[in-house]
Amino acid sequence: MKKQLLTLCFSIIGLLASGAFQEGPYVMTVSGKIAPDALGRTLAHEHIATNFNGTETGNHPLAGQEQALAQLLPWLKDLWGRGYNSLVECTPAHIGRNVGLLRELAEKSGMQILTNTGFYAAVDKKYLPEAAYTHSAEELAALWEQEWTHGIGDTGIRPGFIKLGVGDGPLDPVERKIVKAGMLLSGRTGLTVYVHTGGDQSIISQRQLALELGFKPDKLVWVHAQNGTDSTRIAMARQGMWVSLDGVSEERLDAYAGMIRNMKEAGLLHRLLLSHDDGWSVERDDPDLELELFANGNKRPYWSVEELLLPKLRNLGFREAELDQLLVQNPRKALSITP
Ligand SMILES: [Zn+2]
Repeated sequence: MKKQLLTLCFSIIGLLASGAFQEGPYVMTVSGKIAPDALGRTLAHEHIATNFNGTETGNHPLAGQEQALAQLLPWLKDLWGRGYNSLVECTPAHIGRNVGLLRELAEKSGMQILTNTGFYAAVDKKYLPEAAYTHSAEELAALWEQEWTHGIGDTGIRPGFIKLGVGDGPLDPVERKIVKAGMLLSGRTGLTVYVHTGGDQSIISQRQLALELGFKPDKLVWVHAQNGTDSTRIAMARQGMWVSLDGVSEERLDAYAGMIRNMKEAGLLHRLLLSHDDGWSVERDDPDLELELFANGNKRPYWSVEELLLPKLRNLGFREAELDQLLVQNPRKALSITP
């Protein structure tokens, strides 16, 4: 009896030491795991440096990395200084994903940054590597899982979500395979799937695939939902999907305020994510680096949500708790990984 008790005690100590009782949900940033509560105020869809010429490698340091750091750091410090804690960087592999730069910017600015794994099949599949055609969905999921398990390239940096891209219309066979691969990997890892989506028809097709696979819609983010219609946004959110209005700009404030108000009236603020989709494109990648701000209606990056949209929403009667839900609670829920 005494011996059995002793064995039991050792088993409990062993379990505690292995973290079995301590491992709760977390968020994965380029600097490692953080508690979901530490995510704080978050822009759920932005870019830092994106290379629209495409890149052969899945992770692409710049020739002018030091210049990029010097040019970009003040903007991240500026964002941090205005009370934001985290930024979700949505540049996928093969379009200039540069996780070393992200980690350095995170460490020097104080911002927590998340990066991603996955392939981008939008823009006529210009950025798709050969593997998208030669691999099955299961093989693609396994390929991306390597980045989750071992880190991206030799950086040791792990993705915090899965980022995919598809075009307009119902999913074609290659897009369907990529989205299926994302859902399979999400099921195994707990990573949330962001899908850059052309419009209503595509998201309806993704929803159908999720149903076929038994995939939970609360792990799926409809990226660029502003390109869809109110009725589809409401229908998808009612089914539990995250609806990301991520192109907030100085020029389209009224349109965004209208979409957000409609979601509020439908009782769906708890499914909504807000962001700018700001960032810089790499115009010249050599020691004389040239980075140009995206021409998406914002002259100042990462700024319009806080300084222009929130005041407008307050004027429309939104309470601080509702704004916090959009920028703190929803990103925390959308990006938490449950082991
Ligand atoms: Zn984007």
